Amino acid sequence: MNYEKIISSVYQQLSEQNNYGNVAAYIPELAKVNGAKFGVFLQPVNEIGFGVGDYNEKFSIQSIAKVPLLALAFQLLGDNIWTRIGYEPSGTSFNSIVQLELERGIPRNPLINAGAIVLCDILIDCLNNPLDDFLDFIREIAANKTIAYNEKIAKSEEKTGYKNYAIISLMKSFGNIHNDIDKVLNFYFHICSIEMTCRELASTFLFMANKGIVPDTKTQILNSSQTKRINAIMQTCGFYDEAGEFAFKVGLPGKSGVGGGIVAIYPSKYAVAVWSPRLNSKGNSYKGLLFLEELTTKTAASIF
Ligand code: GLU
Repeated sequence: MNYEKIISSVYQQLSEQNNYGNVAAYIPELAKVNGAKFGVFLQPVNEIGFGVGDYNEKFSIQSIAKVPLLALAFQLLGDNIWTRIGYEPSGTSFNSIVQLELERGIPRNPLINAGAIVLCDILIDCLNNPLDDFLDFIREIAANKTIAYNEKIAKSEEKTGYKNYAIISLMKSFGNIHNDIDKVLNFYFHICSIEMTCRELASTFLFMANKGIVPDTKTQILNSSQTKRINAIMQTCGFYDEAGEFAFKVGLPGKSGVGGGIVAIYPSKYAVAVWSPRLNSKGNSYKGLLFLEELTTKTAASIF
C-alpha cells in the first residue's frame, strides 16, 4: 500500500476545501491557536513514517492524553479500575454532567472528562510524584524524552475549567474521588496540556497498533488483552457523542482532543495523527475527521 501517495493526495484535496468550525476558545490559551494549521503524519509499525503540512509543529493534545492515562492505570492496577469507571459509550459530550447524577458518580468510560478525572484520582493514590511519573510514562511510550507539559495551558484551564470543577465536585459527593479536588484537577489539567507534533503523537500511539509493545525499544507496556480493550474503548468512546459517526465513516479506533488533534490506530499496520484546530459542534476536528474518512476510503482498508 502506498500510504505516502494516498496521504499526500488526500491532504492536497482537503487543503483546497473550505474549513468550518471554531478553535476551542473556552480555554483562553487555545483561543490563540491559528485555525488554519493542518498537518498529518502516518507511522507504520516497523517502517519509516511520513507526514504532510504542519506535522512538525507542537499542539496541545488535550483529551488524547486520556488514552496514555488509562494505559498507565490499567498497567498498574489491572481490572481493579473498573470498579470506579465503566466502559460503555456515553452518547453525551466530553464534559457532560447529566449521567453522573443518575449513575451515582461513576463515569460511563475513561475517555470522557469525568472518567479521566477519576483516573487521575486513582493514579494520585499509587504514584509517588504523579506529574513526573506520568511524564516519564508518556516519554517511555513515545520513545522521546522531550515530551513536556505546557504550564501556560494548564494554568489557563485551571482558571476557567468550571465544568470540570462541577464534575469533580459531584463525583466527590458520591465518594468516587478520594483526594483533594484541586490536587486532582491540577494533575488532570496538566495531562491535557501536553504538547506533541503529529509525528510524535503517531509514534506515541504506535504501541497500541503493536500488541502493547513500543516498537523502537521493544518495551511491553500492556499485554495483548489490555491493548485490545483500550482499542475497543477508543472505538466506542473516543469521540464522545460522535463515536458512532467515527466508527461508521472511518472504521478505526481513535481519540480526539479539543486542541484539534486526532490519532487513529490500525492494529498491526500503523498509527496516524492529524491536526486541524477548528472543531465541529461535538468538539472534534472538522478537517481531521474528513481526512481520516478519506484515508480509509482511499486505502479501502479499516478494521471492519
Ligand atoms: N481539557 C479539556 C477539558 O477538560 C479536554 C477536552 C477534550 O479535549 O475533549 O475540557
